[in-house]
Amino acid sequence: MKKIGIIGAGTMGNGIAHICALNGFEVLLMDINKEFLNKGLATINKNMERQLVKEKISAEQMETALENITGITDLNFLDDVDLVIEAATENFEIKKTLFKQLDEICREDTILATNTSSISITKVGAVTKRPEKVIGMHFMNPVPVMKLVEIIRGYLTDDDTTQAVMEMSKTLGKTPIECNDYPGFIANRILMPMINEAVYCLMEGVATENSIDEIMKLGMAHPIGPLALADLIGLDVCLAIMEVLHKELGDSKYRPCPLLKKMVDADVLGRKTGKGFYNY
Ligand code: NAD
Repeated sequence: MKKIGIIGAGTMGNGIAHICALNGFEVLLMDINKEFLNKGLATINKNMERQLVKEKISAEQMETALENITGITDLNFLDDVDLVIEAATENFEIKKTLFKQLDEICREDTILATNTSSISITKVGAVTKRPEKVIGMHFMNPVPVMKLVEIIRGYLTDDDTTQAVMEMSKTLGKTPIECNDYPGFIANRILMPMINEAVYCLMEGVATENSIDEIMKLGMAHPIGPLALADLIGLDVCLAIMEVLHKELGDSKYRPCPLLKKMVDADVLGRKTGKGFYNY
């Protein structure tokens, strides 16, 4: 694989573009307009600069990586990529439209991966004529730092596709781990109910934000508390995942906390809006 298309220049898309470009891939980064695209490109620049200051990369590596990234706002430019990693907004209708279009635009042998946190890979694959080439590549946030890529096989994903994205993830310096396609896969099936429960604890006045996070950090050796982590992930993303778990698994233990819903209604989404459980 040489040429990678990345869809969505938000939190995850710009991180994925960052590591692909640093590892020598030619990257086409796509978003719906120039404003979102430029914001993503500026974040990549800022994050690489931080790595440069910490001497994790050289000035030359940074320059080459930035040259490897081309920003686009038209999907049709993805007609010659080897792999697409879709990291657009967590919404099935958006992904459905995108994958139908990608199936028409991309070469027959192009693998179509999604970074979805919770949407069924099997359902996404079913809107294309190549479900065997559709797979989940679930990167963790922040992408340049976190080692794991959860590789999710849809019901019809084949071995060659799985093997190819496992190898590709390793060339990015990541550790890919395979799992099957059930709601929330592994990471979010376990993480999100914990975050949701932390929000319930806050809503019920069991403890303050700080106390909840410190208890989980010091008591469970978590590097970051659940509420601070929710702010990092984005409260809208957390809510969307809880809604999928609740709907798809049909168990009331997954009902999203009303406080989480209220904060999303108020557009208080965490770091990306400057305010969540904490101020940024
Ligand atoms: P985000 O809101 O930060 O970014 C999404 C970007 O997608 C935006 O820039 C938006 O303009 C763009 N977009 C929307 N529709 C588009 C379209 N049709 N074509 C091109 N671009 C489009 O969201 P995010 O947090 O980066 O999440 C992206 C995906 O990654 C979601 O599927 C999410 O579930 C998943 N994910 C998120 C995290 C996290 O911690 N935030 C972690 C793992 C996976």
